[in-house]
Amino acid sequence: GWICYAEKTLGSYILPYISSVKSPQQVIGAAIKHHMVEKLGLKPYDVYHVTVMPCYDKKLEAVRGDFVFSVEEKEVTEVDSVLTTGEVLDLIQSKSVDFKTMEESPLDRLLTNVDDDGHLYGVSGGSGGYAEAIFRYAARVLFNREIEGPLDFKVLRNSDFREVTLEVEGRPVLKFALCYGFRNLQNIVRKVKMGKCEYQFIEVMACPSGCLNGGGQIKPAKGQSPKDLIQQLEGVYMQDVSSSMLTTFHVGCRALLLFAILILYPY
Ligand code: SF4
Repeated sequence: GWICYAEKTLGSYILPYISSVKSPQQVIGAAIKHHMVEKLGLKPYDVYHVTVMPCYDKKLEAVRGDFVFSVEEKEVTEVDSVLTTGEVLDLIQSKSVDFKTMEESPLDRLLTNVDDDGHLYGVSGGSGGYAEAIFRYAARVLFNREIEGPLDFKVLRNSDFREVTLEVEGRPVLKFALCYGFRNLQNIVRKVKMGKCEYQFIEVMACPSGCLNGGGQIKPAKGQSPKDLIQQLEGVYMQDVSSSMLTTFHVGCRALLLFAILILYPY
């Protein structure tokens, strides 16, 4: 959402500062269509790649010309189809799938970030992973500082605008921010425009609370407010990965199984 806004509305004073690193959807798209297909002895056009995403903007992203390449004169897209989590739920309900009666299936280990003990690696939380990974890396490589434990993000105007600082010999040497939602985003854009932005890196997300609050996500249950649902989701994402994420993954596995059937259908 932010990229569309920056390209269409902000233009030249913001675009040069935007990271050229692909989004998670397109990173996995490139990994599947360039690396995994080779490992599996397939051609990129043999694989139909479906992603499950939090918003409809990811559909627009998947069809961008940047992510199309050609192999043997055939046009290949890194991601062939994007379903939102809400659409996955609709699909499951339309097929009358009852998870409780299904048999357990082993974890798909083709491309996974779960170790043998069921621990996910990466960062906890629904969003913020890019900023955290780059902050830790910059601290180590530029300043020889290994940061143990969670990063100390300080809430500024609201919980969707937070910053983290690395101090060396009492001097701030790194200053990163998380900036979610258009209200906060406008402030940052204004600062960049005036040349008064003090951050070296900002993780920008169009949705307040990040992707957990995306427009394509499953809606709150009856009687549940959107705020309560976000808080509940954030809690799950912050919990010990070995217990909570496994549950998510067991459910996810079955959803993936469903997708696997769809994906393998052409063969
Ligand atoms: S922050 Fe919102 S618009 Fe951006 S990818 Fe996440 S859900 Fe989509």
